[in-house]
Amino acid sequence: MTLMSAAEDAPLGIFGGTFDPVHVGHLRTGYELMRALRLAELRWIPVGNPGHRDPPLASAELRLEMLRVAIAGQPGFVLDDREISHSRVSYTIDTLSELRGEYPQRSLCLLLGMDAFASFTSWHRWQEIFAVAHVVVAHRPGWQAPTTGPLAALLAEHGVADVAELHARRAGCVHVRKVTPLEISSTDLRELLVSGGDLRFLVPEPVRSIILESECYALAHERTQTRP
Ligand code: ATP
Repeated sequence: MTLMSAAEDAPLGIFGGTFDPVHVGHLRTGYELMRALRLAELRWIPVGNPGHRDPPLASAELRLEMLRVAIAGQPGFVLDDREISHSRVSYTIDTLSELRGEYPQRSLCLLLGMDAFASFTSWHRWQEIFAVAHVVVAHRPGWQAPTTGPLAALLAEHGVADVAELHARRAGCVHVRKVTPLEISSTDLRELLVSGGDLRFLVPEPVRSIILESECYALAHERTQTRP
């Protein structure tokens, strides 16, 4: 393609997660942020080997497949399997640096929920992330924006209220955004399955079908039983 449209200059969104499984809290948040930030595209990047937490219960292939069917048909939503396709621990800084290499001039916006932002300073080389991307934090029920410590300082120094700033610069800003509050987590959904519940209307129907057919969360029962 030789012609550059305005959309090709607009920021690229990156939404990473374990997505074990993907649910409407992820999807609606991604959709609202994509519109509010006027993103050209939103990359959904399931983590391969998360390193810092319990391994996901569903296999990488199934989590990828669930995401694929969940975002199918939504313009601008793009599945990116770069973290799943290698076996080493996935670090966000490496993924963002790779994307920066592919898109040297473009604004990159890393999307996070407030819970993920709350633990941001424990992320591998977290300070370097701001040299490569903006960080956009979505409100999440049960979580408040930090008011003390390094994250509060970060918000004071790099916080921007205006979306135009995320377009004008390639990286370095923090933008906090309200989205429709949906009190749903993958953990709750796995526990709901263990207790015999049904995920209808909490995940897209094709995702629910994959979970039912594969029984990929049958093991969630064992993990709940062995938890200290
Ligand atoms: P788990 O319960 O297994 O930790 P999760 O529901 O938090 O899973 P993740 O895949 O860990 O989902 O999250 C990926 C990203 O999506 C994170 O940045 C997280 O903060 C965000 N996120 C997840 N659920 C919501 C929600 N309901 N509203 C807003 N953001 C969310």
